[in-house]
Order: sequence, then C-alpha cells, then structure tokens
Amino acid sequence: MREFDRVKDDSDKKGIPASLAAPVLEDVKHYLRFLEAIGCTGIGAGEKGREIAGKWGPGEKTGGEDLAALKKNIGNCRRCRLADQRKAVVFGSGNPRARLMFIGAFPEAEDENTGIAYSGNAGALLTRIIEAIGETRESVYICHAVKCRPASDRLPDRFEARACRSCLERQIESVSPEMICVLGGFAAQSLLKTDEPISRIRGRFHEYAGIPVMPTHEPAYLLVHPAAKRAVWEDMKKVMARISH
Ligand code: SF4
Repeated sequence: MREFDRVKDDSDKKGIPASLAAPVLEDVKHYLRFLEAIGCTGIGAGEKGREIAGKWGPGEKTGGEDLAALKKNIGNCRRCRLADQRKAVVFGSGNPRARLMFIGAFPEAEDENTGIAYSGNAGALLTRIIEAIGETRESVYICHAVKCRPASDRLPDRFEARACRSCLERQIESVSPEMICVLGGFAAQSLLKTDEPISRIRGRFHEYAGIPVMPTHEPAYLLVHPAAKRAVWEDMKKVMARISH
C-alpha cells in the first residue's frame, strides 16, 4: 500500500488540474483491474488497491519540496562559474504558497546587498505593479531565473542558465503557483525554452508544466522606457482576469 500513498503524495505536490488528473486516474483504475484480471498480485491490484485509487483526486495545493530546505540545500552553490563573481546567492522571497509567482532574470547589486530579490529601484516599480493588481510582495513569490549576479551585469550564458535551472524548477514545484509572470526576455526565454524575443511573446499566455505563464517587460526596462508601462498594464489585466479570486 505504500506505493499508492507515494503516488498520491506526488499528485498532491504538483497540484495537477482536475481536468488533467481525472482521465489519468480513470486509466490507472482500469489498469489495476487489468492487472488483477491477468493474475498479477502483490502490487495492490486487488479491490483494496482500487478502493484507494478511487479516492485519489486532483489534490489540494500543498506545494512540493520545502522552500526553506531547498534554500539551505542550494546554500553556497558552486555549480557554475557565477559562484566566483557573486557576492551572495539571492534565492527568492515571498509567500511559499503564492498563487502568483514573478520570475526575473538575475539579481541586481542591491539584491546582493539585501539578499532580497528586486529590492532596488526596479524592485520598487515591481512592488507598485504587484499592488496595482491587488496583491502584495508578501502574497506573491518573487525570484530570479539565475540566482547569482554576473560581473558587470552581463546576461548569464546558456551554461549558467542551465546550471541554475534545476533550482528554479524546484522552486516552482514547491510554490506550485496558479500562474507565473516572467519579467523580461532572458527570464521568459529561460523558462519557456524559446529564442523568441520578449516583444513577440509578451501579452499572451504560454505554459510551463501545466502552469499558465505571462511574459511581460522587465521593471528595469520600464525605468528606461516608461512608455512600455502601458503594455505591462495590459498584460497584468490579463493576469488578473485569469487568476482565481
Ligand atoms: S547561478 Fe545558480 S547554479 Fe550558478 S552558482 Fe549561482 S546558484 Fe549555483
């Protein structure tokens, strides 16, 4: 019976939508009946197994790996050469069970000093954007695709982005948000594994692991190009309309 418990736990962690989980669960129940019919025993294919499978549902949102444990695990990570350039690993912060997750590119100098993602001028603008959609920095979760700041603020290369991806994936799995907003081209391209420029992918929903993803402009870009704020507001209105309240 432990095997059934283990599978149920995994389902819960991912917060699989009911529309996706229901047909899979139905298939599993049929498969269990089939296994029993051909005489397979010892793997929970009998009546008790089906009874347990019948109780499986899409699961409440409980999140995955504990964020604090993950942060501790990342610790003084040296998986890529940014380890020699950074002042500090900036892990991310906010509600560990947030419905909405913001992911930027990499930390700025202020973020390294404070240890908090988006704590400088761009962060102040992001805070205003978050508040404009009725959320707070405490209600959402904010992090970067790459956790260490490259020297001279150059973009991380693909090896560095790849090295840090597993941390980001585990963070997303842990928070299990209803929706992700990626800020700027680098973060969007990293998460969505695309080469398309932000100008072509922003403003419409994409998907990562079954989670809707809205790419929009990076707050630092808006500080230099304030006219782009209107486009970001249009993107945020779509986020507000789609996220549950
Ligand atoms: S950027 Fe990511 S993978 Fe590279 S050293 Fe920092 S935490 Fe580790």
